[in-house]
Amino acid sequence: MSCMSVITRFAPSPTGSLHIGGARTALFNFMFARHHGGRYLLRIEDTDKERSNMRMVDDILDGLAWLGLEGDDEPIFQHKKIERHIEVAYQLLKNDKAYYCYCSPNELQLMRENARAEGRQPRYDATWRNRKASLNSPKGGINPVIRIKAPLSGETTIIDAVRGPVTVMNKQLDDMIILRADCTPTYMHSVVVDDHDVGITHVIRGEDHLNNTFRQAIIYQAMGWELPTFAHIPLIYDSNGSKLSKRQGAVNINVYREMGYLPEALNNYLLRLGWSYGKEEIISHDRAIKLFDLSGIGRSASRFDFAKLENINSHYIRKTDNNKLTDMVLARLSAGANNLDLTDEIRLRIYLGMDGLKTRARTINELSNNARFYAASPPLSLDEKASQLLDNCALNILSGIAQTLSELSSFHESNIKHTICLFAKENRLKLGQVAQPLRAAVTGSINSPSIFEILAILGKKETLRRIDNACSINKKGY
Ligand code: GLU
Repeated sequence: MSCMSVITRFAPSPTGSLHIGGARTALFNFMFARHHGGRYLLRIEDTDKERSNMRMVDDILDGLAWLGLEGDDEPIFQHKKIERHIEVAYQLLKNDKAYYCYCSPNELQLMRENARAEGRQPRYDATWRNRKASLNSPKGGINPVIRIKAPLSGETTIIDAVRGPVTVMNKQLDDMIILRADCTPTYMHSVVVDDHDVGITHVIRGEDHLNNTFRQAIIYQAMGWELPTFAHIPLIYDSNGSKLSKRQGAVNINVYREMGYLPEALNNYLLRLGWSYGKEEIISHDRAIKLFDLSGIGRSASRFDFAKLENINSHYIRKTDNNKLTDMVLARLSAGANNLDLTDEIRLRIYLGMDGLKTRARTINELSNNARFYAASPPLSLDEKASQLLDNCALNILSGIAQTLSELSSFHESNIKHTICLFAKENRLKLGQVAQPLRAAVTGSINSPSIFEILAILGKKETLRRIDNACSINKKGY
């Protein structure tokens, strides 16, 4: 196969939001197509009208857009292809690869009960397979379904690109319905027709679809269509080894977005969740395109590891441009109900403080919370530790350093640092005994980037205002 011909697809059913597993499937399909210079398509599998929901379609497309995993063309909506699915079902019928089945619901029920009683798998017993519908007089009122003729003996082997050859005995496959009595195609049938019609060359999807592959293969073979290459990716488990589910943690991509994960970090993490290249953990988008291939997909289940995701997110936060981070922080601060007046001056403070802030944050939410003090106007609310720290002794030190700082003519970081160090020395204090009360007073917390940098960014007036406020509010009487 020439490299140019690769076409992959991500085919979500809009019965729920985009979750971690789906996003990873989309990413692998995207990367594989890009690696081969091929195309990556989106198909919304919305034929199940009762379970599909337009809101979910938007939600999924939005999540994919955020991750940069939009399809190369407009998404294909499966329900728009129903006529074609029906056409293929009739073609199979015409070619004697499928047949009408007039079994009533009661007969099917009986079939299932008998099978169960005899300890067999409940499967359709091919009653109508060799009966000519026209020669029998179907019982009135029964609209027939169309069933595909599954092979009766032998075995079917799929060479899966991840798992290698996988074989099932054909007698395990029954004559499944491809067109229901109400003339709607079944999911199994639609998938095959759609994949074939757009020329999908590689079907990369979750391992939970492996059984479907054998059933879908029957339709490909009956139509004389070439099978695509299948690659079934092992499922994702949580840190306890159980299947990742909504109950055990966040599975919805939008929740990660709200928690402040960057799309490039989530992509890098998802890429490594089940695929590897040596021991490389941090793999940029471009490098991933260069390296991605199906041979790097592991066979064992993947475990979702929050700590790893946080590490990767920290890395990408550090790499992100300060202007962009400042915008993200401002958007979050203004979304919070905190009455902050986000003026240009505040923006500038946060931008100037970004180098110090970004190395300490694991998420954009954390970054925003840590940057909040730049936007706050005095009196600052102090957290518990900061408030405890500001005892009378600390307040005295604060008054002293405030006096010294007020006399400074140049309020640059190096100058501030020099002054504070000198003040500590002259008063026989450790640097921390001066720096910590200062930090508590101007940031409201005892953890922050360099205090010298913060004071320089806040400027003399604002620094003195904050110290003054802290002193007057926290003065503790005996
Ligand atoms: N619509 C299926 C799902 O959301 C995927 C089908 C496929 O990839 O073939 O699980």
